[in-house]
Amino acid sequence: MNNETLLEEFLSLVEVERYQEHFCQDISNGKYFDFPLASIVTAEKRLRQEHEKGIAYFSMEYGLGPSFYNTFSSQIKLDRHNTIPPNTIFSNYRLADYFFDVNIDGLIDLPIYSGGLGVLAGDTVKTMADYKLPVVAVGILWHSGYFKQRFWYKHGQVPEKMHWHPHSYPGLIPLKNIVTIKLRDELIHLKLWKYYVYSYRRDYVIPLILLDAEIPQNNKKMKDLTDQLYRSDNAWIKIMQRIVLGYGGIAALKELGYCIDKYHLNEGHAIFSFVAKAKGLSETAMEKLKSKFYYTCHTPVEAGHDRFSNDDLSAVLDQEDFSLVKRFGKEKSGLINLTLLAMNTSAAINAVSKSHQRVMKAQFPEYKERIQYVTNGVHPYTWISAEFLKIFKEFPSYFEDIEGNPMVLSRAKDLKGSMEFRRKVWAAHQANKKTLCDVLGKWKLSPEVFTCCWARRIAAYKRPSLLLYEIEKVVDIAKRCGPLQIILAGKAHPNDNMGFTFINEMMDKVDSLSKEYDFLKIVILENYDMFLGKFLTCGVDVWLNNPLPPFEASGTSGMKAILNGVVQLSTLDGWVVEAEDKNVGVIFGYKNSGEKIGNELDLHMQDDSVALYGALEEMMKKYNATHNDGSVDLSSPWIDMMIDCIAAGAYFNTYRMLDEYKHAIWKVS
Ligand SMILES: *Cc1c(COP(=O)(O)O)cnc(C)c1O
Repeated sequence: MNNETLLEEFLSLVEVERYQEHFCQDISNGKYFDFPLASIVTAEKRLRQEHEKGIAYFSMEYGLGPSFYNTFSSQIKLDRHNTIPPNTIFSNYRLADYFFDVNIDGLIDLPIYSGGLGVLAGDTVKTMADYKLPVVAVGILWHSGYFKQRFWYKHGQVPEKMHWHPHSYPGLIPLKNIVTIKLRDELIHLKLWKYYVYSYRRDYVIPLILLDAEIPQNNKKMKDLTDQLYRSDNAWIKIMQRIVLGYGGIAALKELGYCIDKYHLNEGHAIFSFVAKAKGLSETAMEKLKSKFYYTCHTPVEAGHDRFSNDDLSAVLDQEDFSLVKRFGKEKSGLINLTLLAMNTSAAINAVSKSHQRVMKAQFPEYKERIQYVTNGVHPYTWISAEFLKIFKEFPSYFEDIEGNPMVLSRAKDLKGSMEFRRKVWAAHQANKKTLCDVLGKWKLSPEVFTCCWARRIAAYKRPSLLLYEIEKVVDIAKRCGPLQIILAGKAHPNDNMGFTFINEMMDKVDSLSKEYDFLKIVILENYDMFLGKFLTCGVDVWLNNPLPPFEASGTSGMKAILNGVVQLSTLDGWVVEAEDKNVGVIFGYKNSGEKIGNELDLHMQDDSVALYGALEEMMKKYNATHNDGSVDLSSPWIDMMIDCIAAGAYFNTYRMLDEYKHAIWKVS
């Protein structure tokens, strides 16, 4: 097809707003922000055909990382609002504090995610594109993102709004389409946007529809609904954000003419989509509808299960919708529980790891028989560093088509005996570590020194301060077995007071160590996000993961690390339970494997910090026996462990994960 017809076809399928005034430079000549336009036309046409049996994937958040994967380019100069803001650092190196000038003035990542759940959704959608599945994704356009974390001197975190500019973000396009949701007393109007998630070959796309309430048709209160992700100031706003996703998503799919056969809910946030579809149906039709819904639960933690009062819900929903919600979601306490609502209205329910399945069964014994599990994964091509991809390419008979078939990573094991491979693995790792040290230039970290990182959302059950619990012991280890470099990063939800306390405590402890900087360097990075995550997960020696078992449903950052030969230091929880016999690192601390799941606030800090220090010392000794003064013992067991990590990536990835969703959950070929 020639480019002009292609463009006409695209514009007839996708009603771009301000095409002539703004987007005609970037969408023309068969190109969409320099990616092939034909891939979009193919996918858009396919999703409008009934026999294709389309799947709608709903998620509150998407972490796509376009700053480092599938970056669109634009003819229009990058808007200053869409560039990476400067970050500060807090460390025990007094001279350099508060000046983080990484000189990368690139594009910010689409700020429509908060953490692991969003990154998983992004990695899943990318893999769906690689698999050419007939999927359309639904999410929300968060005008102020989640939040930008600022350190306030040494006193902790100040959350700020992100000020980005959707209208000039490369690859993001506003549509002319607007949908309206009718509630008990009010209307909400939602403008639709689109972002296209390309396959790695760029020959297919998954359209991501983003819903936006910030339009003149809405009053201020309604406009604010799509301002910040996970606002939790009151029940009303929580309910309304979920309504926007669920009802808005269904209305959008209809408005855009998509033929959908299955609805997948990435977390219960989107469960109002069922209510929207069930309205007015007979009992038989309702049963049929249930057979089209699929629900993935992502956390055993209390805060992850929404419960609302009857009053709060009936104030918003009309009578019929409220009855449906009550009928399927009411729990013993009388409250309405969105997890129950989702489980009662879905054909399949799944946990996100084997360990999480056990926990979920204990939490919801009545649903025991129905709870399956599909262990999470990461999109390999997004998270394998360029250095490691290069090595894999140098052994083509082992890692053939690694981008499209990460299962070949298991062949790393067959290369254990190759000194050439071992040397290259070590060299690639050192190169990644050097890049990270260069990024953190002023803090004078050295790629020759043992480096351990803890970076994730600050939540109590993840125990952010475990490593610093008895700071004198850390100093002692660093003195005896060091030097030691520690990198910490993480955001606490703005309404999580306990999270704030953790950050303050960590800063206080780090602040007390200025004299120890020669042998113990600790840096806390501001505003942990995918951009930093990309450097960190490949640039350190040891990835620390110390959640309180069994509250980490899966965890995925360690999976990014193993793809780059980064060794794990972890409690036995989440995905790590399935990696226990794979030699991916050292496991320590409290274990939970019985019927009782325990209390998420009983953190076992005392015992587990002792166990952690023991394990850390053991690892530092092993590392130092491998590597000393720039020379390295290539036959050492440490390098075996790095290779075993890489090989384990053959399982902990989104290709294996999607295969399981296809066969065991959606039952499609
Ligand atoms: C991968 C990732 C996460 C998930 O980390 P966990 O291991 O699940 O704690 C969170 N935030 C960012 C920015 C990530 O890239």
